[in-house]
Order: sequence, then C-alpha cells, then structure tokens
Amino acid sequence: MRESQKLTCINCPMGCELEVSFTDSGEIIVSGYKCLKGLDYAKKEVMNPTRTITSSVPVVDGEMAMVSIRTDRDVPKKLIRDCMMLLKDMKVNAPISAGDIIIENICGTGVNFIATRSVRKK
Ligand code: SF4
Repeated sequence: MRESQKLTCINCPMGCELEVSFTDSGEIIVSGYKCLKGLDYAKKEVMNPTRTITSSVPVVDGEMAMVSIRTDRDVPKKLIRDCMMLLKDMKVNAPISAGDIIIENICGTGVNFIATRSVRKK
C-alpha cells in the first residue's frame, strides 16, 4: 500500500474529509465520503484533477464595466494558469449575451470561456 492522500470534498457544504490510497496493484481506495459524488471526486482528483474557471473581463461601451465569465466545462487543473493568462489583456465589446463565447478552445482544450450574464451597449 502506497502513502495515503487527504482531500476535502468540494461538492457540497458538508466538506467531507476524504482519504485516498493505492493498493500495490494500483487500485484506488477511498474512505470518508458520504455519497458517490465524493467517491468520484476523490478518484478524479488523484488521477486527473480538473476545475471550472470563473473570472470577469472589462467591457467596452457597455452599461456595465465588467462581464462575468466561466469555462463551459472543466479544464485540467495544471492548465488553469495558462487559461487565466489569456484573459490578461482581454476586453470585449458590448452588447454581450449570456452564453456568448468570449474565447474559444482555450489552450487547445476544446473548452470555451463564455459570458455568464448579458451586458447591453451604452
Ligand atoms: S462526499 Fe457527498 S456529502 Fe460529502 S462533501 Fe462530498 S458531495 Fe457532500
């Protein structure tokens, strides 16, 4: 049995403390979860951790100065910094509708940044 790893499940406010270990044959053993979401989270977190990214970008000629955005699917955790760098000098022109793609195929993941609200033109 390899060393175990402790995680906190982030799928609900219960925040269950999970413990993940591996058998010598590579099987994942998870304990501490109270539902299957926790089990799935723990397995994914040790094998291929991913996250949804949320942020906001400035709007040009909009009724609001900023528009909130998020990825339309999870991206690999190791690419979060690269994905955020794409937003560094980003500005979008109003009008914007909720769901509009702000940046397509970020970092070659096939995932898009989309607007999460609408912003009308001034
Ligand atoms: S294991 Fe289930 S109950 Fe526990 S924090 Fe995760 S989602 Fe919530």
